[in-house]
Amino acid sequence: MAYELVVIGGGTAGSIVASRVAIDARDLVHADRVHVTLLTERDDHLYQPGLLYVPFGKAALEELHRRETALLPREVSTRVATVHHIDTDRRVVWTEAGEEIRYDDLVVATGSRPVPEEIPGLAEGGEYFYTEDAARRLADTLEHFTGGRILLAVGVPHKCPVAPLEFTFLLDDYLRARNLRERTEIVYTYPLGRLHSLEPVADWASALLPERGIQTETFVNMESVEPEKRVMHAMEGTDFAYDLLITVPPHRGAAFLAGMSGSPLSAPGEWIPTDPRTLAVKGLDHVFALGDATDLPVSKAGSTAHYQAEVVAANLVTALKGGYAGHRYDGKVFCFIEAGRDEATHITFDYAHPPRPQPPSRLVHMFKLAFNRTYWLMPQGIL
Ligand SMILES: Cc1cc2nc3c(=O)[nH]c(=O)nc-3n(C[C@H](O)[C@H](O)[C@H](O)COP(=O)(O)OP(=O)(O)OC[C@H]3O[C@@H](n4cnc5c(N)ncnc54)[C@H](O)[C@@H]3O)c2cc1C
Repeated sequence: MAYELVVIGGGTAGSIVASRVAIDARDLVHADRVHVTLLTERDDHLYQPGLLYVPFGKAALEELHRRETALLPREVSTRVATVHHIDTDRRVVWTEAGEEIRYDDLVVATGSRPVPEEIPGLAEGGEYFYTEDAARRLADTLEHFTGGRILLAVGVPHKCPVAPLEFTFLLDDYLRARNLRERTEIVYTYPLGRLHSLEPVADWASALLPERGIQTETFVNMESVEPEKRVMHAMEGTDFAYDLLITVPPHRGAAFLAGMSGSPLSAPGEWIPTDPRTLAVKGLDHVFALGDATDLPVSKAGSTAHYQAEVVAANLVTALKGGYAGHRYDGKVFCFIEAGRDEATHITFDYAHPPRPQPPSRLVHMFKLAFNRTYWLMPQGIL
């Protein structure tokens, strides 16, 4: 019987791991000894980092999509199916259509999702840019904005930890270009006692934000929003009036994991308990979790998903070829940070080394724009 690798989730992590295994074990796939199957909810791969630019009219939504079934190498059997349960004892996955799919090894890469509904009034009163619909709505709201107080608030945990800062700098540019900046107060708030979870990034931002005339407040955790009064109440007891509230809502892991209590895959927030180095799900030898879906103390970012996918793919292929699967994830993350004014910086860090943001430059901004275009080579397993 052929060896079956099943990957759940056709986003960054799932696509890279499936493509890499299929390419690096191509001879075994062609000999019908290895099958690589990717299951994903929709035949649509969204390049989520592009959503940052949509509210400002700097990216068109249609540029951010590819068909997942057409994107991956032909050695991957890509199927549109929503998984609703995993039986790790019998090593089977069930889809919502009632299909039972056997695996020898399983990779769960089902990402994370914003849950604005968890904060009373937020879904009605706040705008955000973390989904396609929300980014489109915010573009419309900003187009009709004529000035006032814009309050930015950040829920935790959330993917792409630098996106709130990037958005704030791009918002400043956008309002200046429309001659609305003098009529607009921008207030950037953050839930911790500094302006970012990563201390060096917080230090970097605490110099740049005031330079752009952006006000800042720390220890602001959203508790509720009263849309009709245009007030956001913080858990710390402070109330914030606004004309326009833009947030990053808190996130959770994939919804179907909530229905799997008693399974090693089940945990608070639907964050899968994961070994920080092997990326195996804790207590399971043949199940791996990647990308946003894990409970690891690293940034939920596309680069994290990419580095982790490379480790798991290398281990799976090595084991298939009879070797020792000794590759380990070292916590590596890379992020570009848009700083406005057509400049950006970048950070690299891992479990042992903190980030060191450099002064922003035009060159790094150009690199980020180029990366946005070349992203599609990654899910194909080329880069
Ligand atoms: C506005 C924004 C800006 C960002 N900017 C950056 C950036 O500049 N740099 C960076 O590195 N990262 C950035 N990110 C984060 C990055 O997009 C994510 O961290 C990355 O996509 C995570 O990859 P993933 O594979 O874990 O999850 P995803 O890419 O979200 O993929 C999850 C997949 O699982 C599928 N799925 C879920 N449940 C099921 C199910 N039950 N059955 C079948 N399929 C299922 C989903 O449909 C999806 O295809 C940004 C994100 C946003 C929203």
